[in-house]
Amino acid sequence: MRADDAQPEPAAAAARAGARTPPRLIGSDALAALIATLAAGGYAVIGPTVRDGAIVYDEVRGVADLPAGWTDRQEAGRYQLERRADGALFGYAVGPHSWKQFLHPPAELLWRARRTEAGFAVEAAPPPARRFAFLGVRACELHAIAIQDRVFLGGAYQDTGYAARREGAFIVAVNCGTAGGTCFCASMGTGPAVSAGFDLVLTELVGEDGHDFLVEAGSEAGASVLASLVSRPATQAALAAAGAVVERARAGMGRRMETAGLKELLQANPEHPRWDDVAARCLACANCTMVCPTCFCTTVSERTDLAGTEAVREKRWESCFTAGFSFIHGGAVRASRKARYRQWMTHKLAHWIDQFATSGCVGCGRCITWCPVGIDITEEGAAIRGHEAAGRDKPEVAHGDA
Ligand code: SF4
Ligand code: SF4
Repeated sequence: MRADDAQPEPAAAAARAGARTPPRLIGSDALAALIATLAAGGYAVIGPTVRDGAIVYDEVRGVADLPAGWTDRQEAGRYQLERRADGALFGYAVGPHSWKQFLHPPAELLWRARRTEAGFAVEAAPPPARRFAFLGVRACELHAIAIQDRVFLGGAYQDTGYAARREGAFIVAVNCGTAGGTCFCASMGTGPAVSAGFDLVLTELVGEDGHDFLVEAGSEAGASVLASLVSRPATQAALAAAGAVVERARAGMGRRMETAGLKELLQANPEHPRWDDVAARCLACANCTMVCPTCFCTTVSERTDLAGTEAVREKRWESCFTAGFSFIHGGAVRASRKARYRQWMTHKLAHWIDQFATSGCVGCGRCITWCPVGIDITEEGAAIRGHEAAGRDKPEVAHGDA
């Protein structure tokens, strides 16, 4: 795909381009009603929930499934859930999951062929069984979805499976109030405030005065759902409190990335000694690409049953850190870990801009947290600049109000 390809705005994004409605206030009862309304409308409501010591995304059936009173403490190679002093439902940053796994699933059937009397009958992959409603989408994650929209829907060829899942999705975004220790969305211009691409956006207001949510609609569908909920006009105090929530997250970013000139810097330094340094630490485990909400690479494989009566073609997530990713006749183009890390980081922060007119990084911090050896993309970028310690702030500013 070339940068000069025509770039039609994906339909799903265009449908949400409407003006925001005046903010309203709802209580947690109305949040329960929101989940019930979406479920009654045929959506699979996917939201945050606690499982296996992490906040993950899964189907939620009510407010009781949400991570009330939990927050996450994150550092390079470390993630831990902790109790908050309040009952906030969205008082965490982001976990190992992203919405990518629903819109661009890790494994997807492309077609199935069955042997028949007359030869083979080929069946296309079935359409999605249910539409998704995503609850709790952060600003950086909306930018990640927009990037994947550009990749899968914005070029000459569209990914029909992605298009079907994306077109039907209803998005309830949440403004961040708690930045993670590895977050740097403020550096990337992707957060912490939600700006576009949502049907509804919530700001959670929890304190001595009660537990409410400031709600705005960003689409006709969102306005229609909001009108069905018990709500009241937003007060000046609530608006001020909502502004303070986002500013608290902005001030609490645990990482920062200097982006000025970064593309040119990386493209001019393919032989910088830092690539050898990071290669000595990198395990080529591919965790960073699996958790990254913008990484989109896939591979395709076919398999048949032993009787030869059925064959399927499947698409699966692939990673630029595997040996097979760059294999062509004669061997792998990127045989070393140095070449693979350099490819990943330089594509993400530099070549992606040439290819898609946007950075491939939204500053969510997942690749830092979930790297088993704590490799930190902000630190690597700073090191190539020659600023060894400029990539990270002190840990004491890393954890919002937890
Ligand atoms: S490169 Fe890392 S910080 Fe950037 S979007 Fe991907 S996982 Fe998040
Ligand atoms: S940078 Fe970290 S997460 Fe990514 S492949 Fe290397 S060791 Fe794994």
